[in-house]
Amino acid sequence: MVNRPRRTGRQVMPTDQAPEGALTKDAKPILSFAPRRRGKPPAHLADLDFEQRQKVLVDAGLPKFRADQLSRHYFQRHIADPAQMPDLPKSMVDQVQQSLMPPLIKKVHTLETDDGKTLKHLWELFDGARVESVLMRYPSRTTLCISSQAGCGMACPFCATGQMGLTRNLSTAEIIEQVRMAALACENGDLAGGPTRLSNIVFMGMGEPLANYRAIINSLQRMIEEPPHGFGLSARNISVSTVGLVPAIDKLADLGYPVTLAVSLHAPDDELRDELIPINSRWKVGELLDAARRYFVKTGRRVSIEYALIKDMNDHPWRAQLLADELNKRGHGWAHVNPIPLNPTPGSIWTASTSRAQNEFVETLRNAGIVTTIRDTRGSDIDGACGQLATSVAKEEESSDE
Ligand code: SF4
Repeated sequence: MVNRPRRTGRQVMPTDQAPEGALTKDAKPILSFAPRRRGKPPAHLADLDFEQRQKVLVDAGLPKFRADQLSRHYFQRHIADPAQMPDLPKSMVDQVQQSLMPPLIKKVHTLETDDGKTLKHLWELFDGARVESVLMRYPSRTTLCISSQAGCGMACPFCATGQMGLTRNLSTAEIIEQVRMAALACENGDLAGGPTRLSNIVFMGMGEPLANYRAIINSLQRMIEEPPHGFGLSARNISVSTVGLVPAIDKLADLGYPVTLAVSLHAPDDELRDELIPINSRWKVGELLDAARRYFVKTGRRVSIEYALIKDMNDHPWRAQLLADELNKRGHGWAHVNPIPLNPTPGSIWTASTSRAQNEFVETLRNAGIVTTIRDTRGSDIDGACGQLATSVAKEEESSDE
């Protein structure tokens, strides 16, 4: 018998009107787009383009040419503390820190697994909000998975972050700081195997990236532009995931950056997807796949379809066939499916598919001509699913306070 989730409906409301994990009177999960916290992090060099940095310096009575020097320290040498910049006069350190380079994130916790090839960091932001990032070393690349929001308003029932609700959007600089810290960790040899270079970024940590659209676009610019403007990473090595905010997918496609779009689909039929991904109540599977196809046509980048395999829920061969049919009817070779065994949240009813079901699912897709790659589950033995580290550290702290 298929283990179906409880039937629920959805309602959208501002989070500041809804308590965390809120349900409507008739037990319907609430989607939220508006953050509960409205305080803004202090402005930072990484929020600004090069001209804006020059202007801030001039307004603070400092020479404009320092923008180049500070930006190179930040984006090339990955130094964020003006006191550690030997070519900056001591008399300017405090002023630069206040106007352009205030400390933004503090490391709270680090977990290590895969023989030291994976590091998961928990960061605390200026207002106490916490987010996670995961750094993973592979033979041919080093990838950072970053958070775009503190918590998430999309309320997916199988996801630890979704259960927290949305605290707030991250600023561009808070997103970029995760990248800088990872680049530094790579250079310092914090990952097993010695020093390396950060090469890939995936927006697949806490939050729905396209619900924080402006900060995501700004942070993409900082990642892609060459120093002193940004880190100079290849756009082709960056993936932006979404559960399906269709208008934002079209806006991103119009920008024409060759970044990969990763669609977290998880079900090919509306009946099940309405349950697994509440935003499906706004944009249905067909609308989402049409937008994904438009993204491919505009950018030339093959779209990744992410599919968490959940035991007896979405892992049936007929669903694999339906997914293949939905993709093939929109053209061939434009999408790539990445099934991934669900990394269950402790205590949750949602568990990973058996390897037999997984193999059958993959075979069905491949037999239908769909390029399919099982994604690895790096970090799954260290609270690897997004939101799990933040939740478990908060629980530990609560119990030590008692
Ligand atoms: S799966 Fe992604 S979009 Fe859904 S609640 Fe979790 S973080 Fe948000």
